[in-house]
Amino acid sequence: MFTDSEEIRIATETIRQAARERIAPVAANIDATGEVAPEVLSLLWELGLMTLVFPPEYGGAEQDQGTLLCLAVEEIAKHCAASALMLIIQAVGSFPLLHGGSPELLKRVLPRMLENRELAAYLVSEPGAGSDVASIRTTAVREGDEYVINGTKVFSTNGPVASVYTVLARTSENGRNGLSFFLVERGTAGLSVGKIEKKLGQRGSKTSEMYLDNVRIPAGNLLGEENKGFHLAMKDFDMSRPAIGAQALGIAQGAFDQMVRHSRERKTFGQQLCEHQMIQQIIADSATKIEASRGLIYRASALYDKGQRNTKLASMGKLFASDAAMQITTDAIQVFGGYGYMQDYPVERMFRDAKLTQIFEGANQIQRLVIAREILKDAV
Ligand SMILES: Cc1cc2nc3c(=O)[nH]c(=O)nc-3n(C[C@H](O)[C@H](O)[C@H](O)COP(=O)(O)OP(=O)(O)OC[C@H]3O[C@@H](n4cnc5c(N)ncnc54)[C@H](O)[C@@H]3O)c2cc1C
Repeated sequence: MFTDSEEIRIATETIRQAARERIAPVAANIDATGEVAPEVLSLLWELGLMTLVFPPEYGGAEQDQGTLLCLAVEEIAKHCAASALMLIIQAVGSFPLLHGGSPELLKRVLPRMLENRELAAYLVSEPGAGSDVASIRTTAVREGDEYVINGTKVFSTNGPVASVYTVLARTSENGRNGLSFFLVERGTAGLSVGKIEKKLGQRGSKTSEMYLDNVRIPAGNLLGEENKGFHLAMKDFDMSRPAIGAQALGIAQGAFDQMVRHSRERKTFGQQLCEHQMIQQIIADSATKIEASRGLIYRASALYDKGQRNTKLASMGKLFASDAAMQITTDAIQVFGGYGYMQDYPVERMFRDAKLTQIFEGANQIQRLVIAREILKDAV
């Protein structure tokens, strides 16, 4: 445990037990069917995890929101990365609303989300704009007291199942300073779900294209100031990148636990696998990477919770933990030998799930650019 806060210790224990008893047994099925089981979603709502980062009066944590989000994500991702992604996308998709929505909009939308257990989605990426957010071509044009939105979004987590969409669109030709966030609600004419993607991993979460065809929304659905959407997206990253790091950390810890257990049970050449020094090296290196990931991620989330700049550490945590998770899940399969390659053992799924953590919320090349930029701008 990285903190001595009693509240956080109790919350972690509760989530750990729930994940072990109620999510782990259905994780393989979630992967096989491509659906997060309704009973798992209900559990996440009941534990208050889907609204952790909301204002406290709407179900959010009183304090340490970023840290609690990471802890919950880590504990759940140990068993099922796709279920953990539900928490992340709920926080990420809601962020522009929570931090940019007018008090009237929050009063109208948040109680309803809570009451109906509505899901959020975050519509930023486009066919021509993934890493390069400033190339977004979806437009939002003001007409009287409405905006009219047109464009195509890709890779939208929760696209087919969300009720609340936060959409980044172009409101002026001024590059990254010409983007604005908007709230679009399910059922709005012109909003439709496109192709549902078939994915390598984290299959329980639905990912789709989204079409916005003359979508008319009230001007009051603008989130934050017009043309300041890029900055809101960057603020969102300060919360979400540690959370993706925590997801990678959970996957790595889950694979590591499996690997250690197997290395004690399996014998070759008359010895337990864990008695061979080359296997011990894998165990030692993996454990070291896991602890280093944990240190980076929870330092980044603690800074976020204190309202201090964490951009560099958030990127470092995401980068390091996701690369570590890819390495550790690969090594876990190696320790399992041929069995690790089979779907009968969870390390096969964890290996597939880990890959995404190196790609989304800013691919790892972009994290390196961010880290270097943060260092160089302060260098004398
Ligand atoms: C399963 C899944 C779920 C997702 N969910 C969402 C979501 O809910 N909402 C959303 O908006 N987006 C989502 N995304 C999109 C995700 O954030 C993007 O895929 C990611 O930002 C990378 O963008 P891209 O795929 O367009 O790759 P590109 O930007 O085309 O990059 C391709 C490769 O080139 C590298 N690269 C790019 N530019 C540079 C550079 N300047 N220097 C060095 N290397 C570079 C990248 O690191 C990457 O490895 C999701 C993606 C996936 C796969």
